[in-house]
Amino acid sequence: MRLKASKISTLRTWALLAVFGGMGLMVFGTSGILMFGQVGKIIAGIFMVFGLIACMASMIIYFWVGMLSTNAPVIDCPECGKRTKMLGQTDRCMYCHTILTWDPSLATTGTETSEQTAPQAK
Ligand SMILES: [Zn+2]
Repeated sequence: MRLKASKISTLRTWALLAVFGGMGLMVFGTSGILMFGQVGKIIAGIFMVFGLIACMASMIIYFWVGMLSTNAPVIDCPECGKRTKMLGQTDRCMYCHTILTWDPSLATTGTETSEQTAPQAK
């Protein structure tokens, strides 16, 4: 688990990529009709299906992230002072990417585990 951003924003990024990917596929498929005629329609159909699946998947991710973030506890980041949400035992601040944890045994400023490498730009 080596995430640079917090879990919530990582999931949002993936969802966004899925939307663009899905739309890209649909546009690409539609342009196939113009370029390849009859065969292009079949290709377009396939691309449409994949595009729709990608869009649906991203909607599910968005919904899921929404559910998660409503349940996630809101805390004040000790590093930058902004309000951020935490998922699970450890997560990164949404703004400054500082690793935050509930577990006192992990709450060191040192870099003992590989997960705790290099706090991002302060
Ligand atoms: Zn912060």
